[in-house]
Amino acid sequence: MSVFSAPAYDRHELVTFSSANASGLRAIIAVHDTTLGPAVGGCRMFPYADEDAALHDVLRLSRGMTYKSALAGLPFGGGKSVIIGDPQKDKSRELLLAMGEFIDTLGGRYVAAEDSGTGVADIRVMAERTRWVSGLEDNQYGGDPSPSTAYGVFLGMRAAVFYRTGEKSLQGLKVAVQGLGHVGYYLAKFLRNAGAEVIGADVNAANLRRAVDDLGVFTVDSGEILAVEADIFAPCAMGAVLNERSIAALRAGIVCGSANNQLATEHDAAQLRDRGILYCPDFLVNAGGIIDVHHQRLGSPDTLRQEHVGRIEGSLLEVLRRAEASGHTTEEVAEAMAEEILERARLGRAPLKAAG
Ligand code: NAD
Repeated sequence: MSVFSAPAYDRHELVTFSSANASGLRAIIAVHDTTLGPAVGGCRMFPYADEDAALHDVLRLSRGMTYKSALAGLPFGGGKSVIIGDPQKDKSRELLLAMGEFIDTLGGRYVAAEDSGTGVADIRVMAERTRWVSGLEDNQYGGDPSPSTAYGVFLGMRAAVFYRTGEKSLQGLKVAVQGLGHVGYYLAKFLRNAGAEVIGADVNAANLRRAVDDLGVFTVDSGEILAVEADIFAPCAMGAVLNERSIAALRAGIVCGSANNQLATEHDAAQLRDRGILYCPDFLVNAGGIIDVHHQRLGSPDTLRQEHVGRIEGSLLEVLRRAEASGHTTEEVAEAMAEEILERARLGRAPLKAAG
């Protein structure tokens, strides 16, 4: 496994590996950029096929975190960690303590939060060995940032629909939601309250049932959700769902969801554009969760947090306008806007030249 020549390597500041034999921990932490502050990002546990797959994931996800925080106006850099293993079978208290110790070795340059395969209870165990974890503070949902993530995605949908049609309401629109877990469930709730019809799919029968019973979501088989006749497709399960084949099958005119790294490759953004599908960059519209965590730490009132998440709507409109004017993809434009913010911060930090 080589880091520097890995396809997803992008001048990451630090990539570090841990293999704590007694606990069985095999983990990677990637710090992409700390220009704006400490690298904040989730700790994911997943049964990766091999180490290269884990490295690829952590490199891509940490870069996405840099852009997410920059566009959201947060004082954070981008980082991520991955634990190689099946969260159902391989997770143990010893493993989580070892992960806490690993995170601690970075002395605060990386701050971990929950992610797929880890939950608040796991982060609490890690916190016995490091203070560099986040997302444990209480809010009205008990610290879970998912409702704020869902709200940001919902606002992204509203902006995209407004951009396309001039309509400010989602009333009567059909939205296909892939994954009705933490975020997907709350997203479906916002959509139902706004008068939209939700068609959902999930491989987890209990999550599917909850959405049907509580929210009146219509269901389809998880293999069919991508090609369902809908106005909006919302990927809220796993990454890389948008690839050459799936994009060709899509019937929705807008893609807006919470999943990280929805595009399998950078070329897929161009294919979406060429098919006339408005793609809302994931790292922009799914920033509600990290904004929430930031305000939990500050102890901000709910109104301030909501106002901050609410800025996603305006940022997305700016991306859509710039993309249309330039012919670039929305992904390229959003990345360029994040790079502008980082560059300004770097220049602001450069030491002054001696006078004369
Ligand atoms: P989750 O694990 O609670 O929910 C994911 C759901 O997707 C589960 O119900 C799972 O059964 C389902 N799923 C998995 N594979 C599927 C498939 N092939 N077809 C249909 N359903 C499938 O995770 P979450 O916290 O809701 O996050 C969803 C996505 O959003 C993830 O990609 C996550 O990284 C991203 N995200 C989450 C947050 C947050 O605040 N939770 C913030 C930013 C990004």
